[in-house]
Amino acid sequence: MSGAHFAFTDRWGGVSAAPYEELNLGGAVGDDPEAVRANREIAAKSLGLGPDGVVWMNQVHGTDVAVVDGPWGDAPVPEVDAIVTARRGLALAVLTADCVPVLLADPVAGIAAAAHAGRPGMVAGVVPAAVRAMTSLGADPARIVARTGPTVCGRCYEVPGEMRAEVAAVEPAAHAETSWGTPAVDVAAGVHAQLARLGVRDREQSPVCTRESADHFSYRRDRTTGRLAGYVWLD
Ligand SMILES: [Zn+2]
Repeated sequence: MSGAHFAFTDRWGGVSAAPYEELNLGGAVGDDPEAVRANREIAAKSLGLGPDGVVWMNQVHGTDVAVVDGPWGDAPVPEVDAIVTARRGLALAVLTADCVPVLLADPVAGIAAAAHAGRPGMVAGVVPAAVRAMTSLGADPARIVARTGPTVCGRCYEVPGEMRAEVAAVEPAAHAETSWGTPAVDVAAGVHAQLARLGVRDREQSPVCTRESADHFSYRRDRTTGRLAGYVWLD
């Protein structure tokens, strides 16, 4: 699909020390802020983006969406879990370490969105909220390209049986079982089911499980760790 760019980082190629080694892009996980700043520059440069051309979020597992047309500058970064832009060339970034990073773009309308979908956000509907914000700006779900990045897989995301039942009552596709036979949730499957119901047909899911991959940060595996980023932008 010409015009839309999607990128997901792994943990290598940055300057952070253990346990954030190397390319930690999260500013609220206890890492040295200077290292995070350097890592964000490294990642932006490798993607051909200006360091001031990326918009970040203060993610809180909610469903609020912000429409943006530039970086926040000196303003406080708002507590939202999705950002949407109609500005071509502006990159939107989402931070994760097991949650599902969701990148969306309608290259024809020139509308892009990034969303953070952990279990609570998926259940609460942050992804449909992002798609609604896109369509209100002129996007068409039939043209939206959706990419989800590395995330903890359904065979690894163990939860209490009661929690699985609560999630599956809202989103049956997320019902899962761990590889060791206990109740689990597949958040990415839930996200993709939601997107499919909204009419988003061009969807791809990363095969990488963060908990199983030594090349990715995983909160459930390591607890104190860095954050990966997903980036979306349009030419
Ligand atoms: Zn897994």
